[in-house]
Amino acid sequence: MSDCLFCKIIAGEIPSTKVYEDESVYAFLDIEPQAPFHAIIVPKVHIASAAEITAENSGYIAKIYEAVAKIAKAENLEKGFRVVNNCGEQGGQTVGHIHFHLLARRNLAWPPG
Ligand code: AMP
Ligand code: ZN
Repeated sequence: MSDCLFCKIIAGEIPSTKVYEDESVYAFLDIEPQAPFHAIIVPKVHIASAAEITAENSGYIAKIYEAVAKIAKAENLEKGFRVVNNCGEQGGQTVGHIHFHLLARRNLAWPPG
């Protein structure tokens, strides 16, 4: 999508700090980190949100979680981490390209608020 921030990051039109990439997935550091380690993981195709997942595109979500496990190993996150997907206005989503926050290296409160 031409007007999507994360599509532009994936295309390299907007700079980012890459933490992982494969044929399906791109991951980069969040510009406003909410934890000592905070990466954003996105599929390389434009899917607007979790509300748009279908049988046709759900394979990308499996690839996202494969990437989570690889990043966690590479970053030595053996103490644990949290994966967050904000969906829609009340869910706190501000960028309309589905993305998963990978937060780590501090104790994370529950419930999240
Ligand atoms: P959400 O609020 O769940 O939609 O998350 C959007 C996230 O994207 C926020 O945590 C932002 O800090 C992050 N973000 C926005 N612009 C950039 C950027 N140019 N590079 C990296 N992260 C960004
Ligand atoms: Zn997009």
